[in-house]
Amino acid sequence: MLTLFPEMFPGPLGVSLAGRALASGLWALEARDIRDSATDRHRSVDDSPAGGGPGMVLRADVLAAAIDAADSGPDRPRLLMSPRGRPLTQSQVVELAAGPGPLIVCGRFEGVDQRVIAARGLEEVSIGDYVLSGGEIAAMALIDACVRLLPGVMGKPGSSTEESFSDGLLEYPQYTRPQEFEGQPIPEILISGDHAKVTAWRLAEAEALTRARRPDLWAAKNRDQKPPKNTTKG
Ligand code: SAH
Repeated sequence: MLTLFPEMFPGPLGVSLAGRALASGLWALEARDIRDSATDRHRSVDDSPAGGGPGMVLRADVLAAAIDAADSGPDRPRLLMSPRGRPLTQSQVVELAAGPGPLIVCGRFEGVDQRVIAARGLEEVSIGDYVLSGGEIAAMALIDACVRLLPGVMGKPGSSTEESFSDGLLEYPQYTRPQEFEGQPIPEILISGDHAKVTAWRLAEAEALTRARRPDLWAAKNRDQKPPKNTTKG
């Protein structure tokens, strides 16, 4: 993790599920200060954008030195949190969680000098189509999503395979006690004890919800699952 604000970490990642897993060594986090790689008297890390315009840009030389000092090894993904990046998906989260753990660069100001992105092979990752003031909160979102998938972090392994996005669907609605809330009972099937019916009901609910709320996911799921029309031999 490379940031100008290492004191932001572990922050919210230090409590609850992720925090307990951090304390017990199931994952680790090293937040390094990009400013430690500054070379001038004022320890400056940013400068005004070439070509003019508002704000400041993180310098290529300082950030490259910070990346090199972090010495992340050739196999570790190098990510740059960026609104221009590929939108983060659950399948990328699963991939990252199974790997050696990424080096994550958190941008600030107007972003980072383009040359360091190319020179250090940074893969830009976005957490959504909106602009944050820095990459730290985006990085926390990514790390949180990965950590909860690590073996031993969540109670039951099943809870991560049945949830939203794992099969291209949003999750079905959940209920718990009390049996009746402000006149609304829990759907009868869920207390019937008939597991096959419960499963069928949940799938139908998940499909209806996905179709209504996320036509993009629904279309992608149907596209992916349709068998090819012509199977050519040879
Ligand atoms: N001027 C840039 C935005 C810079 S925001 C632009 O228009 O693209 C400052 C930093 O916040 C970025 O360098 C990035 O690290 C982080 N950031 C902002 N929005 C983000 C998002 N949606 N996903 C991931 N990182 C984001």
